Amino acid sequence: MDYEVVIGLETHIQLNTQTKIFCSCKADSWNEAPNTNICPVCTGMPGVLPVLNRAVVEKGALLALAINAEMPPVSYFDRKNYFYPDLPKGFQISQFDCSLAKGGWLDLPMPATEKSAAYLRRVRIHKLHLEEDAGKTKNETVAGMSHRLIDFNRCGVPLIEMVTEPDLRSADEAAQYLTRLRQLLRWVGVSEADMEKAHLRCDANVSIRPVGADYLNTKTEIKNVNSIEAVRTAIEKEVIRQKKEYDAGRKIQSWTLEWDEDSQSLKKMRSKETEADYRYFREPDLLPVYLTEEWKAEILADFPELPLARRTRFIRDYGLPEYDADILTSERSLSDYFERVVNAYQGGDPKRVSNWLLNDVMRLLNDGGLTAAELKLTPAYLAGIIKMVDDGVVNTNTGKSLLEKVNRTGQSPREIVEAEGLAKVSDDSAIRAVAESIVAENPKEVESYRSGKVGLMGWFVGQLMRKMGGKADAPLARAIFEELL
Ligand code: ADP
Ligand code: ZN
Ligand code: MG
Repeated sequence: MDYEVVIGLETHIQLNTQTKIFCSCKADSWNEAPNTNICPVCTGMPGVLPVLNRAVVEKGALLALAINAEMPPVSYFDRKNYFYPDLPKGFQISQFDCSLAKGGWLDLPMPATEKSAAYLRRVRIHKLHLEEDAGKTKNETVAGMSHRLIDFNRCGVPLIEMVTEPDLRSADEAAQYLTRLRQLLRWVGVSEADMEKAHLRCDANVSIRPVGADYLNTKTEIKNVNSIEAVRTAIEKEVIRQKKEYDAGRKIQSWTLEWDEDSQSLKKMRSKETEADYRYFREPDLLPVYLTEEWKAEILADFPELPLARRTRFIRDYGLPEYDADILTSERSLSDYFERVVNAYQGGDPKRVSNWLLNDVMRLLNDGGLTAAELKLTPAYLAGIIKMVDDGVVNTNTGKSLLEKVNRTGQSPREIVEAEGLAKVSDDSAIRAVAESIVAENPKEVESYRSGKVGLMGWFVGQLMRKMGGKADAPLARAIFEELL
């Protein structure tokens, strides 16, 4: 039997606000000592009152707008009741039936593979709501006794929960969804979206059905997958397990499974709770949230062009291949940088700018752990370097070595070329004299070249470059060697 895979993802997104959702404790306490970033509000002491952080609503609204979701004019907070040691109040303040946003979608450009052409997958978003995070527990053995320790630092950290419709059709699409969601979150500036730091967490709901069927089969829910690769692998394994079950004539049980990163396997955690178990009711200590048109307009005021729109525009207006456009729009600051270089490189070919960025500038970024906005190599300097290479002022290698020098010193490339005398030597007689001396000094290599080892040409040009400080016009040097040899 051929099966189709059906996946829906639930993600929790940690917002990058300064303070927590209902108190003024710092929101981010990554790497801080346990229980140092807490107060009576976020540890749920009796008698305290929550106060909603305005920035949380604004960031939630930004994301909702970015996925074309609908935002009703009023939303409410609710109590989700459950008992767990890391939840000091005994309930989590969340949103239930009247959440900040509903609907919308995220488009996934799926790249071509050996088996299929490129296509676009539209994933509908079911809902998006705001809530507070819980604390963390861990087991530790101290002096031979096992303890359960609780850290409340994370209590009250603002989260968005975003749930998709069951629209994803493969592990690859699930991985692509997370990649695109992470890109979007960083792009609109609502979250650092670092999965390793649990800024972005994902539960994957997986079922399979016969190809062509339109009903939904029983699903399982995979928890605790904290990297995009883990999501992909966990789903692939679960799909294989479900196929085996159906092929053996058994049914799938609605289990919650836990991904174990160490053994790369899935373990059954529990049979699932239902919503009724949480006894939701309106949070009486918070007012409804009225998202007025004025407030929305304020939030929208500096709404950026979104990554997919920019990707499409780069392909259309600059004639870039999809591959280039994809990488250049992977981060907002990189795509801004690219456009500034293109503008400064008046009339030059944008593909040439893209090549310089993808081959050489990306290396500077990766080596230095920098974003494009942090480069001392400004867009104008980079355009200047490419122009100098185009105009024959310096050769390509000198141009490339300038990138690092300019970025280290912040000096203009023209100044460096003048100060260090890096201008290209294109004088035929100067190059010829050096080439002749190399030919005279290396009879063995000349002999091999003449007897057919033409690959030695690179070696000859290399020798010449060494003698001339890398400044010679390389094509001219090659032509002269060809003549001499
Ligand atoms: P639950 O009541 O178990 O929490 P929901 O209907 O709230 O289930 O859906 C949770 C997530 O599971 C959503 O992302 C949804 O798209 C996805 N989902 C629902 N049914 C299926 C299914 N049969 N197969 C795969 N995913 C599903
Ligand atoms: Zn607090
Ligand atoms: Mg649910």
